[in-house]
Amino acid sequence: MRILIIEDEVEIAEGISAILESDGYQTTVVFDGKSGFYELMSGIYDLALVDILLPKKSGLDLLSEARQNRVATPVILLTALSQIEDKVSGLDCGADDYLTKPFDAEELLARIRARLRRKNYTLSRNTVFADIRLDQATQKLFGKDKSVKLAPKEYQLLECLVINHGQIIPRETLIAKIWGYDDESKYNQLDVYISFVRKKLRFVESRASIVAAKGVGFSLEDRE
Ligand code: CA
Repeated sequence: MRILIIEDEVEIAEGISAILESDGYQTTVVFDGKSGFYELMSGIYDLALVDILLPKKSGLDLLSEARQNRVATPVILLTALSQIEDKVSGLDCGADDYLTKPFDAEELLARIRARLRRKNYTLSRNTVFADIRLDQATQKLFGKDKSVKLAPKEYQLLECLVINHGQIIPRETLIAKIWGYDDESKYNQLDVYISFVRKKLRFVESRASIVAAKGVGFSLEDRE
């Protein structure tokens, strides 16, 4: 599980990162709102912790911009302000939860677990597109009449395409999503997995099709 931390107070950011890493999460820390926005836009994180008062771009601004761009990563806002107005405007901007600073490690970890559970639940309900359905529990792809088992990387790849259907997903994003880091040596392997998934879509006689945007990435389209 990869968690993005956007917090300008270095000590707090590093403290949070240490707590999360010792609990088995991978973390990335950024210290201003602008870089935070670009990281969040990559779509490779399972969750983001976002401070409200940040240099260059506020937590609320970066969050509402990311939501307008259809980034669905769960976000927990971190705030020193406990006023009710901030909570309301944060929810309007698309935050999933709040933590008021200072908070303790146990509370932080509990909130993250709760949010990730809910995210998986939402994902397993939402991975439906055109005439296909992905079942997380069995790792199967269902068409109208046929179904086929997907290998773990095929599943991750197709799930990412289904969730973001109609949008071009850059190669780098897909590689980071599937292998956990962006590495050019994985470019050929990505093409191999794309061809495997195309074969399986044909096998279940789906009308969903993976379209290549030359030199950029891939999108999943409904041919009907
Ligand atoms: Ca701050």
